[in-house]
Amino acid sequence: MAPTRRARTRSSASLKADEVAKSPAHGSGTQDAVSKEDHFEFGGPIGALGIMFLLPCVILFLFIAASKDYKFVLTNYKGLLDQLPKKVDQVWEGEAFIVILIWFSFHVLLERVLYCNVVEGTVLRDGTRLKYRLSGHLAFWVTYLVLAHGNLGVIENDPSKVNLHPFPLEYIYDHYLQLAMGAVTFSMGLSVYLFSKSFRKGAMLAEGGDTSSHLYNFFIGRELNPRIGSFDLKEFCELRPGLIGWATINAGCAFKQYQLNGHISTAMLLINIFQGIYVWDSLYHERAILSTMDITTDGFGFMLAFGDLAWVPFTYSLQARFLVENDPGLSPLQLALITLLFAASYYAFRSSNSEKDAFRRDPNGSDVQHLKTMPTARGRKLLISGWWGFARKINYTADLCMGLSWCLLTGFHTPVTYFYFIYFFILLVHRAFRDDHSCSQKYGADWEKYKSHVPYLFIPGVI
Ligand code: NDP
Repeated sequence: MAPTRRARTRSSASLKADEVAKSPAHGSGTQDAVSKEDHFEFGGPIGALGIMFLLPCVILFLFIAASKDYKFVLTNYKGLLDQLPKKVDQVWEGEAFIVILIWFSFHVLLERVLYCNVVEGTVLRDGTRLKYRLSGHLAFWVTYLVLAHGNLGVIENDPSKVNLHPFPLEYIYDHYLQLAMGAVTFSMGLSVYLFSKSFRKGAMLAEGGDTSSHLYNFFIGRELNPRIGSFDLKEFCELRPGLIGWATINAGCAFKQYQLNGHISTAMLLINIFQGIYVWDSLYHERAILSTMDITTDGFGFMLAFGDLAWVPFTYSLQARFLVENDPGLSPLQLALITLLFAASYYAFRSSNSEKDAFRRDPNGSDVQHLKTMPTARGRKLLISGWWGFARKINYTADLCMGLSWCLLTGFHTPVTYFYFIYFFILLVHRAFRDDHSCSQKYGADWEKYKSHVPYLFIPGVI
């Protein structure tokens, strides 16, 4: 069935920047100035429906495929069917859902009470700027302190003893699937809330979230910056419960391994450190998210709510989950090389992102003023030297290499634990093309000129 494509009022996704600035910014979410046809991504409404159904199934599949007893090979259909949960409580548990609710509420509480820096976001279509309360970094450490207190006492005394901590870390591994499905349910409920809230008068809609298909709008996200008072739901979900949740699941896996084996393997320690640094880094540089397309362009609907709250914590932690009961059999040399790969990639990732961030904040700042730039008719210069002279998406390449180092820590027994690398590769390639499209809309002919200055997309001299 082809998506309905009728002429209708358009969002400003493909308007030139100056037209965007002039177009009416909001209303009850429907009418902008210029008529257009719907612009669908992800295969339109049918693709959106498929993705919404498929992604929770992928979480279930990964849960089975990375478990101790299931030896994944592409042809092992029977083994897969045998491992499918037979009882409802293997998938769904009220208690696990309550844990998800408590986790989310705990982070809302931290967001409200912790000391925060109040900063302004980018300029919106109506010329205003929203204020954001940034304290994610502090929330990260407070969460670790709360979890460490009590849980670590168990490790010191007797790991096999019953853990009386109100949130015993081994619970995560023991109820992993139920927690994951609890998070799926919660993100679904949140998406329904966000969608219904987006119809109130005055809601500013996302550029691509106001098509003629309600199903698609529900998926892609209708409202740009849904808020409850000063509480920004999208920015909060992007960084806090899911990302910190991911690091917490990893810690839970390490804890479980200690309980089972009396020690934590080097690979488990390294995955906790590598991914812990990645999460910490995102929160430490929380301000940088305010200029990403997730915040400036995408609406907040199922795609981001599910991605932030269910997908990230419960698929990105796959390596740690696998390592609890599987020995990757890596030699010290292999572990050292993987650590080197991670360290070099992290350095490139952080330096390239910080360079652009510093440049966008102050193009004449002392750390970026030596870099070569290209003027544009839009008034915003583009970097053409330093990290951004190597390749147009050098930050994505570095991020991907980091992802590879995480997967390598699981050894070479199954392709399943390389899921993150494959998925992230697809995500970043898709995202690179989305951004290229959006930049060519923003910069027009200047973008082509920029591409002639920096011809490579990911790897200098190659592609
Ligand atoms: P970018 O950081 O690449 O930001 C793209 C924007 O940067 C463009 O729209 C443009 O906006 C500006 N820009 C592009 N080229 C230049 C240049 N040469 N000079 C100056 N400005 C330029 O993309 P993302 O926000 O997608 O990613 C940020 C980081 O987050 C990446 O490292 C990525 O890997 C990571 N990430 C991680 C995810 C995960 O799930 N782990 C998911 C998504 C991203 P403008 O000109 O308008 O400023």
